[in-house]
Amino acid sequence: MKTPLVFSVQHGCIHDGPGIRTTLFFKGCPLRCAWCQNPESWKPEAEIAFRSHRCIGCGQCRTVCPAGLLLPERRDARACTSCMACVRVCPSEALILVGEACSEAELLACLRPEYPNFEATGGGVTFSGGEAGLFPGFLAGLAERLKEEGIHLAMESCGMYDSRHPAMQDLMGHLDLLLFDVKIHDSALHKHWCGTASEPVRVSLKEAARAMVSGKGPWVWPRLPLVPGATDDAENLKAWALFLEGLGIRWLTLLPYHDHGISKRRWFEGMSQSPQTFRTPDTQDLRRAASLFEARGIRVYGPGEEDFQGMAFD
Ligand code: SF4
Ligand code: SF4
Repeated sequence: MKTPLVFSVQHGCIHDGPGIRTTLFFKGCPLRCAWCQNPESWKPEAEIAFRSHRCIGCGQCRTVCPAGLLLPERRDARACTSCMACVRVCPSEALILVGEACSEAELLACLRPEYPNFEATGGGVTFSGGEAGLFPGFLAGLAERLKEEGIHLAMESCGMYDSRHPAMQDLMGHLDLLLFDVKIHDSALHKHWCGTASEPVRVSLKEAARAMVSGKGPWVWPRLPLVPGATDDAENLKAWALFLEGLGIRWLTLLPYHDHGISKRRWFEGMSQSPQTFRTPDTQDLRRAASLFEARGIRVYGPGEEDFQGMAFD
């Protein structure tokens, strides 16, 4: 069983499922979307990030580095021994460790103080990433504990998981809601923008929809990041609308792209910059995209506006 590293625990989230939620972000993702806002999630291993805007130039990191690296700018991963002396000494948290091992017991201890907020708002816990579905064994165990404690469970996914893996089926059986990212339908274009073919995503979505309809899986809620110039092409949106209609899914969230997080790529030694910049969609872009789904009978929501309880399928 692969044990994931956690790179963030965010309490008080309101866009990751119903009510107020705590979202657990696990490290590791098979995709490399050009517009990704969480590039710190890509590698499954722990990494040192340098946030230059916080650096006060004290030079302490360079003094303590046993490998003699010219910190903080030069962090040659091959020479670094991962001793973390630089991270510990940095007074302004400009150097930070991204990704920490957390046991199931530690995660439960961190989540339990939030239970009253979940109860008061109909919220719960959301597994996110990265791709949380890369770690079905660990998450199925955690999910089982959380369900025993009566907690609503959601998972955000890009669909790049093995839906036939027994542990994945176990995990799905514990989830209440699967927030499923759909991006680019055409496989060659998906490879161009996201780094892999799109067939596995469509297979996972089909399997999830089938389980939902038969009452054996979580509620499936597709979400499409609307990225002008990449995902907002009419042909792409029409292809997804047709696909969702065929699965009996008549609801979708459009996530307007924003460039928060793009600068994070500079935090990591050797990470390439995004090949292109994207603009934030305006009201007209969103309206046009929504109309293509509505033409297929699919109701379109903005983030945080979803009616997660009130949906029904034929
Ligand atoms: S973690 Fe790496 S870069 Fe930082 S002090 Fe240790 S050897 Fe040097
Ligand atoms: S210890 Fe931190 S603040 Fe000081 S130079 Fe290094 S990165 Fe900058």
